[in-house]
Amino acid sequence: MELFDTHCHLTDPPLSQDLDGVLRRAADAGVGRFMVPGYDLASSRAACRLAKTYPAIKAAIGLHPAWIDQTHIKTDFSPEPFRQMARLRSPVAIGEIGLDYALKDFSTATQAAVLRTQLELAAVLSLPVIIHCRRAFEPLYLILREFPGVAGVIHAYGGGPKLIEKFLALGYYIGFGGGVTRPNARKVRETALIVPSDRILLETDAPYIGSHTVAKRESEPKDVSAVAQSLAELRRWSLAETASLTTTNAGRLFKLKKSYSILPET
Ligand SMILES: [Zn+2]
Repeated sequence: MELFDTHCHLTDPPLSQDLDGVLRRAADAGVGRFMVPGYDLASSRAACRLAKTYPAIKAAIGLHPAWIDQTHIKTDFSPEPFRQMARLRSPVAIGEIGLDYALKDFSTATQAAVLRTQLELAAVLSLPVIIHCRRAFEPLYLILREFPGVAGVIHAYGGGPKLIEKFLALGYYIGFGGGVTRPNARKVRETALIVPSDRILLETDAPYIGSHTVAKRESEPKDVSAVAQSLAELRRWSLAETASLTTTNAGRLFKLKKSYSILPET
């Protein structure tokens, strides 16, 4: 069995401070592959560095909506530094990018403009995207629809079962994390029941999202095994089947070689 944590911030503390320990504990839990998305230029660069050092880690690069103003990019956002990074460091996806209407004092027009620019970049580079979205699933759908050649994953999906068909029809995968481990997370669990088995990815968003049993700041990629366990129970799959399906899905979306994962020998 090999699980794939398709969304973990190994560039960030506390994970970055004990990376070898984090990877070892993950391996002990059957988690052997990792996708590390960037959220600004520095974290994107750091993700690419990790991918270069650790064969089990793959990197994505992009500007997250919450980092738009902090980098003073606003509407004159240029994708040029990301384009260059893509050429030099071969990330396997653009992300995380998206819309976040839960943020205070953010221009929705700016968020949409920056998202469109990065979707264009993904189209030109033929790379999949990793989408972050809060309270903006309708506008997100309308923007993604403008880029029919681009697909990706909607990470930590919280849009509910009604909208799911629309994103699936565009070719998107759906990322499930700690939410499915919570017995009272009705909407997420309902959604996890109806997504086709070839479109489901597993993730932790560690260290930023916890689970039923793990506190937020303590989450690690190893906890993707609990997500797999909950999903297996919901879908009445075996754990092995769940691991194989979701890891295969991630490999297909991110166009990875089957053989790529080798944890560093310790
Ligand atoms: Zn994230």
